[in-house]
Amino acid sequence: LDRKVKQNIWEENNFINYKKMSENLAVVRQRLNRPLAYAEKILYSHLDDPHGQDIERGVSYLRLRPDRVACQDATAQMAILQFMSAGMPSVANPTTVHCDHLIEAQIGGAKDLERAISINKEVYDFLASACAKYNIGFWKPGSGIIHQILLENYAFPGGLLIGTDSHTPNAGGLGMCAIGVGGADAVDVMANLPWELKAPKVIGVKLTGKMSGWTTPKDIILKVAGITTVKGGTGAIMEYHGPGTETISCTGMATVANMGAEIGATTTVFPFNDRMYDYLAATKRKDIGDFARTYAKELREDEGVEYDQLIEINLSELEPHINGPFTPDLATPISKFSAAVKANNWPEELKVGLIGSCTNSSYEDMSRAAAIARDALDHGLKSKAVFTVTPGSEQVRATIERDGQLQTFEEYGGVVLANACGPCIGQWDRRDVKKGEANSIISSYNRNFTGRNDGNPATHSFVASPDLVVAMTVAGSLHFNPLTDKLKDKDGNEFMLAEPTGHALPALGYDPGQDTYQAPPADRTTVSVAVSPSSDRLQVLSPFAAWDGKDAIDLPILIKCKGKTTTDHISMAGPWLKYRGHLDNISNNMLIGAINEANGEANKVKNFTTGEFDAVPAVARDYKKKGIQWVVIGDWNYGEGSSREHAALEPRHLGGLAIITRSFARIHETNLKKQGMLPLTFSDPADYDKIKPDDKVDILCTELEVGKPITMVVHPKDGKPFEIKLSQTFNASQIEWFKNGSALNTMAKKNAA
Ligand code: SF4
Repeated sequence: LDRKVKQNIWEENNFINYKKMSENLAVVRQRLNRPLAYAEKILYSHLDDPHGQDIERGVSYLRLRPDRVACQDATAQMAILQFMSAGMPSVANPTTVHCDHLIEAQIGGAKDLERAISINKEVYDFLASACAKYNIGFWKPGSGIIHQILLENYAFPGGLLIGTDSHTPNAGGLGMCAIGVGGADAVDVMANLPWELKAPKVIGVKLTGKMSGWTTPKDIILKVAGITTVKGGTGAIMEYHGPGTETISCTGMATVANMGAEIGATTTVFPFNDRMYDYLAATKRKDIGDFARTYAKELREDEGVEYDQLIEINLSELEPHINGPFTPDLATPISKFSAAVKANNWPEELKVGLIGSCTNSSYEDMSRAAAIARDALDHGLKSKAVFTVTPGSEQVRATIERDGQLQTFEEYGGVVLANACGPCIGQWDRRDVKKGEANSIISSYNRNFTGRNDGNPATHSFVASPDLVVAMTVAGSLHFNPLTDKLKDKDGNEFMLAEPTGHALPALGYDPGQDTYQAPPADRTTVSVAVSPSSDRLQVLSPFAAWDGKDAIDLPILIKCKGKTTTDHISMAGPWLKYRGHLDNISNNMLIGAINEANGEANKVKNFTTGEFDAVPAVARDYKKKGIQWVVIGDWNYGEGSSREHAALEPRHLGGLAIITRSFARIHETNLKKQGMLPLTFSDPADYDKIKPDDKVDILCTELEVGKPITMVVHPKDGKPFEIKLSQTFNASQIEWFKNGSALNTMAKKNAA
């Protein structure tokens, strides 16, 4: 295990450290003395402190040292802006940025890409220059979708990766523990802070048998989603194992891992096997495959491991599925689908079929899909529905262009879109139906929530394998079942589509296509980061001010929130996403969805200095201008939802000091601490009712100590002041974050020392 094997072909100095991993694991094994799941082995071998760390699945918080960080272009903006404010010369851990989310599908790959480059120029210029400055690998627009690029270049068995995108688990197809996180977590790892994760439970999925005919790896996860529902994987890693795993291609396993996100799983892993070795060899990483073989014993589960839950699937009996509409866990086997369409009155005509995306755009997917399209063409038929193809990477696009599948799709009537997310993330200028018109589309993507693809809430979006998508486009109807139904050829003769066949890997090897990678330059000192001061999409962050060392006296309550206050209420998404790289602009959405207890309305609070009602961000800005800090009072589980760091950055930016609630969603609570705010909870939750929106409060910050409550003095508008105890969960290093103004200020201070 002493060998020096590089993590990838792009970086000279980043190696796979199986030796250190095995040493850490030996320590943990001795402590736990029980068989371990593969997911556990990966996590525990990346512990910051394998000797001292508490380890209890579903209970402890693990402090981990990931091997890599990856960001997509939408989430990278704020992550990098924050990292910059730490004042470090380069990222502390290998990091890459991928331009894929901002490219809108309109007429076809090349033109759409050109348009996106012009519309998003300032964002791309910023990312390209910041990556060059801070030693980050930059994948330009047109290179492909983050998860395909990671699988093709960066994933390796036993590794731990965090990525600022929910489908990061895709790399589990190559035996990596790859976890989707918020930008704040990515910044921690870039800045060399340990990364915290609640020790996940492990759900085992045992695969036996072998797929055949129309069944594909996608159908495994469509079936699993039907069993677990969209919440079934929450707080757990899905661990596939059993002889069936040997029969699935590496990219097929990645499809299954990718869609584990749809059941809420922390991630999904597959054990290292020969199919992964073959894929590594085909993608110029045979040395990694060989190295993994020497560590193979630890790249799978221990014999006798006990899973928190076990699901068993016999692949020989697995039917193709179609899931949806509106949710990915409504799973219907193809044999029952036509009846379900009738029973539910789903629009029968198939308007659009879409294949590709990060979920299903492997060479195998493309070659099987092309085989079906070719079969139809041989019978004189073309797609009845609109048909689009999204290659997941430039490498896949170039390879299917060379090998002819791409021409087949075009002959069949398909439009080949840019190597990017496109319609999967709503970047789709769809013109074949009007907004509000009920219609059906079917894709090989992963998510199908209302409006996700085209912004039309009446679109019934289904997900299936690329095979079924293409077959359905031949018929143009949701009633078609290619396993049993006949079609009519151009002369009116009946025929059945042949079972699809394809190649897991291209016989001639991959064609890399155009060079779309920008390596950081050797001399980075002269690089300057491009941010226009007049930009409304990007803004350089100034470090937040340190605590003044005093108690905070006579603070107004900006808003006392009633009921649910999720991260969407605190920092709404939708049109605001455009400003995710501009803290001041996006702060205009702060808490606009929260309900004010005083009047039962959203975004209408009283400014105590004027007596006037105004929007929440406007009042906060007015207080800030007048030098008045403020607090928010919240109800139960404040900040649930996503890990969006903007929900913590905005109140800090607009002058908030403390958020005081009955309870917090943990990730949001940590995010607030990172930004130098005080997340506090009522020691007695009933005290929430004692506070009125017009009260003023003193927060005795000087009492802040590990494990001790702090006092809040409430000054009611009419009546005598009284004290309330507030609990807090700061540890010693987090108290430093508060004192220094933020976690990043603390890192910057350490670096300067
Ligand atoms: Fe996310 Fe879709 Fe892009 Fe995949 S293709 S990364 S699911 S937006």
